[in-house]
Parts: sequence; structure tokens; C-alpha cells
Amino acid sequence: MEYVKTRTIMTKSDKGSHWFGIDYHMNLYKGCSYGCIYCDSRSDAYHIENFDVVRSKENALKILEEELSSKQYKGVVSFGTLSDPYNKEEEMYEITRGALELIKKYEFGVSIDTKSDLILRDVDLLKEIQEKNNVIIKISVTTYEDELSRVLEPHVISSTRRFEVLNILRKNGIYAGILMTPVLPFITDSEDNIKTIVSKACENKAKFVYTKMGMTLRRRAREYYYEQIDKLYPGLSFDYKSVYEKNVVVNPLKYKDLLEIFVNECNKYHVLCDMSEIIQDYKRKIPTREQISLF
Ligand code: SF4
Repeated sequence: MEYVKTRTIMTKSDKGSHWFGIDYHMNLYKGCSYGCIYCDSRSDAYHIENFDVVRSKENALKILEEELSSKQYKGVVSFGTLSDPYNKEEEMYEITRGALELIKKYEFGVSIDTKSDLILRDVDLLKEIQEKNNVIIKISVTTYEDELSRVLEPHVISSTRRFEVLNILRKNGIYAGILMTPVLPFITDSEDNIKTIVSKACENKAKFVYTKMGMTLRRRAREYYYEQIDKLYPGLSFDYKSVYEKNVVVNPLKYKDLLEIFVNECNKYHVLCDMSEIIQDYKRKIPTREQISLF
């Protein structure tokens, strides 16, 4: 694997950022080999050339250890927002596993987004981290239909297997749920898809289901997406262009109705879907930064 030079691994979350209560971000890998046709990380906003080729940061674990040992606040560190931390290369290089060892050693919390069952390899570490700090695992699912998933996310395990992964994590007592994102207009924005994902999440003991009920289409990612959807559904990119023009945030036409259906389904199954409630729930055992400062 190719290595790229870097001076920092962790960055502090934007002040006021509400995204799953994350305190620090890091990407141990650059690029991703899973090939999701809608991936926002392809966009030129992130300056990742040859996105489908996975590279690692040189001396990533050494730099990470220096950073973790110097931080006063042992907050939640997010793994992989621009690349899946359990990409295929991780099986051999174990950089994510090495980072989890360090997170455990320095008693930080962890937030992981993944579509891979390789996360099950690290259940032992996640359980140990959870004894001292907060853990939240988000398994991404865009469609419950395995055939559709295979064309939208060509190198990812089936959606069925992702629900099984959720189930195994939950059986091990790990706080985990489903990230139903993105929702692709004209493709995955059906009532049936949304209701089925919520019900399968609940069957498999999800602590939460979260969605933004739409997608992001930035330059370069947009062109790639249009090229791919036209191969699957000839002419569909014309519908996108006529409805959304060059909007970055692209929501289904029935956005409000779908959101209402989603919330009703979550309420029916008593599963959390509100960001503030999810944060409050998974962080319930550990004092917040504000609480600590009172002492
Ligand atoms: S797994 Fe995530 S980072 Fe990788 S291609 Fe798919 S959406 Fe992009």
C-alpha cells in the first residue's frame, strides 16, 4: 500500500457541531475501495485524487499516540468520514485496529461508520473501550434490497449481512444502530424501502436509526454519480438535472412526507431517530465536558 505524508491525524470537531456528539475526527486511510456510486468523498471539496485507491498516512499510529497522550479532554474520536475504516486493506494492515488499541490505552471514546463486517474482528476492543468511555457504531444501509445494493455499492457486503453485523454487535452489548444515508431520489426514496429498513433495524436490536433523508452532490462526485446512474437507469441524470439543477443538497421530492413516515415508523418500534436523543442515550454513562468543568 502507498503511504502519504501527514503531520496530524486528529482534528477537533467544529464548535457547535452536533453530529453524533463527536469531539475529534480522524481518517487513517485516504481513498476507499468500496465503490459506492453516491460517495460524497469523491467530490473535489476533499482533494482526494484516485479516490478508489486506498492509501495510508505515514506513521499514522505514532502520530496518533502523540496526539492522544497530549489531549486533556478524552472525548469521542470519529473513525472514517472520508473513507471506510474497515476497507479491504484494513484486513491486512490493521491500522484501524492499532488505533483502537491506542484509544483504549488512553481511554478515549469512539464513533465508527462502516459498511463492513470486518468490524466484528474488533468486538473485543470495542467492549473494552466501552467500559471506560462512550462507543457508538453506525452501520450504513441505503437499501434493504441486496440486488440494488450490489449495483449502488458494488464492493460492499450485502445489506442482509450488514443487519446481521448490527445484530452481533448488539448481542455483544455494543451501542450500535443504522445510518440510513444517503437516500437517493428516484432510486431508494420509496416508502417501502424506508419502512423496511426501520423494521429490519429494529428486528436486529438497533439502538437508533438516523437519516438526513437526502444526499449531497458536489462537483466531481456529481459527475461520477450521473455517469453511474445512467448506466443503471438510462436517462435518469436528466431528471436529476431538471429537478435539482446544481444544488448541493438534493432531497427526495416527497421529502416531508417521507420524513414523517420515517419518524412514525421509528416511534412505532420505539427506536431513537432524533440526533439529540441519540447523543444523550449513548453518552449517558460518562460525564460531559461541561459536567467535568463544574468540579
Ligand atoms: S464505504 Fe463510504 S467512503 Fe467508501 S466508497 Fe462507500 S460511501 Fe465512500
